[in-house]
Amino acid sequence: MRLHGRLAELARLGATGEGIDRGLFTPAERAARERLASWCRAAGLRLEQDRVGNLFARLDAPGAAGGAPIQCGSHLDTVRNGGAYDGAYGVVGGLEALQRIAASGRPLQRSLEVVAWAGEEGSRFPLGCLGSSVYAGQTAYDAAAALVADDGESFGAAVRGPNGLLDGVPVRDGFPPPAAYVELHVEQGPVMENCGARLGIVSAIAGQRRFQVAIEGVAGHSGTVPMTHRADALCAASELVLAVERAALAASDTVATVGQLVVDPNQTNIIPGHVLLRIDLRSIDDGRITAVDARIRDEAAQVAQTRGLRIGVTLLESRPAVTMAPPMRSLVRAACLERDPQAVDIVSGAGHDAMCVAAVAPVGMIFVPSIGGRSHVGDERTEPADLELGVDALVAVLLAAASAAVGGSGAVGASDA
Ligand SMILES: [Zn+2]
Repeated sequence: MRLHGRLAELARLGATGEGIDRGLFTPAERAARERLASWCRAAGLRLEQDRVGNLFARLDAPGAAGGAPIQCGSHLDTVRNGGAYDGAYGVVGGLEALQRIAASGRPLQRSLEVVAWAGEEGSRFPLGCLGSSVYAGQTAYDAAAALVADDGESFGAAVRGPNGLLDGVPVRDGFPPPAAYVELHVEQGPVMENCGARLGIVSAIAGQRRFQVAIEGVAGHSGTVPMTHRADALCAASELVLAVERAALAASDTVATVGQLVVDPNQTNIIPGHVLLRIDLRSIDDGRITAVDARIRDEAAQVAQTRGLRIGVTLLESRPAVTMAPPMRSLVRAACLERDPQAVDIVSGAGHDAMCVAAVAPVGMIFVPSIGGRSHVGDERTEPADLELGVDALVAVLLAAASAAVGGSGAVGASDA
């Protein structure tokens, strides 16, 4: 019940009534890191942080040769009005797993580490998986430091500010990557619930592209400009929104969403002159992403030509799909099937810190179901028994990975393992 108590305690930090707001380096997010640090200290774990605010708590393996640790973790920041489990479960569940392993008195062949990655949600600074991407060398520290939040504060200033790095926790730099990484997370979708699975064996994390589309038409009087003489940017946008949907449906195993539309001037009696829209495109098959990308651009060019207006498509972000490392996936599979014969292989449509850590270490992921598939909302829930079962599976994977990696400094699955 320690697990549920801690999740409930974290859920109060940044609670808005509709959900939880814990943007990176806000008072609520710092309070969550402080709370985690106090639990880790009480559990006898060794705490460190790096200069972007990733927080590491290590259970040392006495007498072991050293070498890189086996890591688990997730994030403590939330989207606006987010839920109590997305991210927090992987961190608190990781701590719970380490405490159970420590209490078992079982000799460890490798150190274990739980990490709270900074700013996975892009919650305040405009980059997802911020902390883990700097850790994995995918984003330079200086590039991260230059990011500016909507409130005008730069990341570089915030990390040094009153809600940034924790006091009394050593800052480490330039440490080696883990021997393996496993992330425990809520599914955030309805697939597991629909097939009665309590544990999910993640096979891959979908690749993702984000685009901004600027449509330049001609604004005018809604009463005087004849229908045949218009360049209505919103009508063009409407065609494009449906074209995006058709392109994803035709590609199969691909999702594409227009979730943002800005209409200018957005007045009842003015023909819309400008529209900005954003497209989010995902698939575990990078080839399908490329094909849908090309089709969307073709459709945009056709709409522009037919309607006599200008449409510019800009790529904002592109992340390839990440496949879980086969040795880690086998460990996750064994741990999950032993505890739940209904455990399913599942693809993650959502991005996770594991995507970034995959650049430097073999990664695996364990999912537990989300009730009603609800996530990124205040009423995000998972059955308490499923939360416990996920931690059980994590304990098994951490122990198996620690044994598998022993005997060499290499990663799990490396030739010397
Ligand atoms: Zn998450």
